[in-house]
Formats: sequence, C-alpha cells, structure tokens
Amino acid sequence: MDFYKNTLGNMQKAAGIMHLDSEVLEALSHPQKTLMVSLPVRMDDGTLKVFEGFRVQHSELRGPFKGGIRYFPEVNLDEVKALATEMSFKCAVVGIPYGGGKGGIKCDTKKMSEGELERMTRKYVQATYQIVGPEHDIPAPDMYTNGQIMAWFMDEYSRLVNKYQPGVVTGKPIEVGGSLGRDTATAQGGVYVLEEYLNTLDEKDRKTDYKVVVQGFGNAGQHAADILHNLGYTIVGVSDSKGGLYNEKGMDPQAIMKTKKEKGSVIESSEGKAVKPHEILEVPCDILVLAAMENQVTEENMKNIKARIMLELANGPTSGDADEYLSKNGVVIIPDILANAGGVTVSYFEWLQNQQAYYWPLEEVKMKLKRIMQESFARVHHFQEEYKCTMRQAAYISAFDRLEKAMKLRGSGANLRCKIYR
Ligand code: GLU
Repeated sequence: MDFYKNTLGNMQKAAGIMHLDSEVLEALSHPQKTLMVSLPVRMDDGTLKVFEGFRVQHSELRGPFKGGIRYFPEVNLDEVKALATEMSFKCAVVGIPYGGGKGGIKCDTKKMSEGELERMTRKYVQATYQIVGPEHDIPAPDMYTNGQIMAWFMDEYSRLVNKYQPGVVTGKPIEVGGSLGRDTATAQGGVYVLEEYLNTLDEKDRKTDYKVVVQGFGNAGQHAADILHNLGYTIVGVSDSKGGLYNEKGMDPQAIMKTKKEKGSVIESSEGKAVKPHEILEVPCDILVLAAMENQVTEENMKNIKARIMLELANGPTSGDADEYLSKNGVVIIPDILANAGGVTVSYFEWLQNQQAYYWPLEEVKMKLKRIMQESFARVHHFQEEYKCTMRQAAYISAFDRLEKAMKLRGSGANLRCKIYR
C-alpha cells in the first residue's frame, strides 16, 4: 500500500474512533502548500545535472511548518506529502508549537562528491528560501542528510536574507548553533517511550532480559542500539541496506559502529553472522526497533514477525495491513509519531536556543526531553484506555485533539462549523 494512503488511513481510523468533526479530518487531509523545484547542478565532470526537489507544507495551525529534508533516489511527491502530514501529527503528539512540513531531493548521495552535494544543497536553498525561515518553515535532517548539509543550508539562507539566521534549520553541528543531544535525540526519545510502556506492564508480563533487533543502522538505529545495550538490553540483531547481522547471545553496538565506519557495512563485523537484509525482521526477538524507512513490515512478511513489541523510529515502517494484522495478534506497536518524536523535540530546543542565542548544557536537554516524552506517552496511554484502541490510534487521537482545538480557536479561512467554542 502506498505510504500516503496509509497515513490518510491512519487518520481516518482515529477520526472514526473519536467521532472527530469530519471537516477537521477533511481539512487535515490536504497539505496547505506544495512546492516542486528543478535544481540544475554543475557536476564534477563538467556536465549539468538537474535534480528534482520538493517541499511540502502540511499545516501551520500550531506553529511554523517543521520537518526534515531527505536525499534519496526514490523520493517522490506522495512520499513527501505523507511525511509532512506525519510531522503535523508528531508535533501535536508531543505538544511542541509547530506544524508539519517535509522536503526532499531525488538523488543518490552515495554516488555524489562532497562538492556536488554542497552545490545541490545551496541550489535547493535558493529555490525555497522565500517559503522557509525561522518563523515560517524550519527544515532539519532526515534520511541521508546530516549536520554538514544543515550547515550549508543555514549559510546559504543567511547570505540570501543578509543576516545570521541559525534558526532556519535544526540538526546543525554544535559549532554553528546546534544543540547538545540532538544527534542522539530520536533514539533517546524512543527509548524513554519504550521504558514508559514497559512500566505499564504487570510484573508477570515483564522480562528481565529483552532481546532486541534494530533494523537500520543510520543515526537513529545506531544510537538506539547503543543506548539500549548500555541499559542492559541484549542486541541480538542489527542491519543496514547491505544486510543483517545476528547473534542470539548479543553483540556490542560500539564494535559494530566501528566496523561500519571502517568497512562500510554492519555485515563486515565479526560480532555476529551475516543474514539477508529482510531476514533480520524475522529472527527471534522480543523488541523490534524499526529504524530504516517506510514500508518495511508489510503483508509479505507480517506473519513471520516474532517480536511482541515494535518501536517505530523510522516514519511509516509498518503498512496498514500489517499494522492491523499484528495488532490483532497482540503485537504492541509504539507508533512513529510518538516513538521518533524525540528528534523534532530536541530540534525545537535547538531553535529556542538559536532564538535566544543562549545554549543549554546536555543535562538540561535530556531532562526536558525525558519530561516531554513521558508526558506525551501518558497522554496517549490515557486516550488508549479511554477508547480501547491501539497505541497508534490513540497517538492520532491525541494529536487530533490538539489540532482540532487550534483549528477551531483560530477559525481562519477554514469556515469550520464551530462546535466546541460556538
Ligand atoms: N526528520 C526527523 C523526523 O522525521 C526530524 C525532523 C525535525 O527535527 O524537524 O522527525
């Protein structure tokens, strides 16, 4: 099923359960603004290549548009629309004052030089700078984008508007206005939520030794494996785009990170034995951390999943069919819009620090992140109990509740029937 339809499906299910005003659902089922741009870039060999770029601004009901930019060969408009929509819900779940947006460029970073990446990034800023800005739309890293790319973005934007504007993007390196703790925030936030969930279980349902598989070994996956390993969880499997690594006795994520850095993939590590990329989802474990990309657990492999808990650090890793099947079979899915919201939460902290030109110590970032993730989980848990639904549906309900109130209070443009505050 396609990712955008899946996202709209998730919204519709939650809206049905909570009897949401149909006009609110209708309004949020369409992005506010969509920009498609062509980026002509001079390549190292002297040729000119035109890249396709996107920025989708889904909703600014609760604050400026916010969301990452991904550089990936399969980027397309529907995918970016799905991701932008999810951002509006994600920011609402954790109650940070942002709407949702997302961007992307169709390109293969693995085949590009640093110079080509820099020139393409600057072209993207030149093509979008009129619609972004610290009070309008604030991009950040996503798949195959990083702090360096954000630094170029900030530099180009600051030049174009003729003033230093670190708050135009988040996920920057510390030296140019980044926040401590942003690099580990997605993983750390997910772990806080996971532990909150485990705390709700009765003693008899709790284990002392959880076996964990982490699919995807990029920023989120690497840090999740490391944080969980340090907390005493057993990491039995990891994977990247080249393949998986499995060892039922457990592995040291730091050693695997070192190998990946030196040799390019986790499969080169001697910590475990190599398995095919898709097989890593099907090995025995208690907790499956999905940190790769969308549409990984689908109709095709849902029956082979052994985990009882899935933590979605990627956006949209579980298809609608698989979500329904696994939930019916007792698998608890901690949904993306809650599980990975730690990333955008610390992006919010970074932006606050930029606005004030005053930087916080790591302890403060961690403490504030923990509090937001715990409160957000508690709110979702409350809706889950109230509506007797899945955690994903409860997370959407939690977000809709805030979005609906903002929409009705603002009333702008939408001409909504004002049921609540008539
Ligand atoms: N790309 C990340 C996400 O999907 C982070 C977004 C941000 O920090 O704005 O949540």
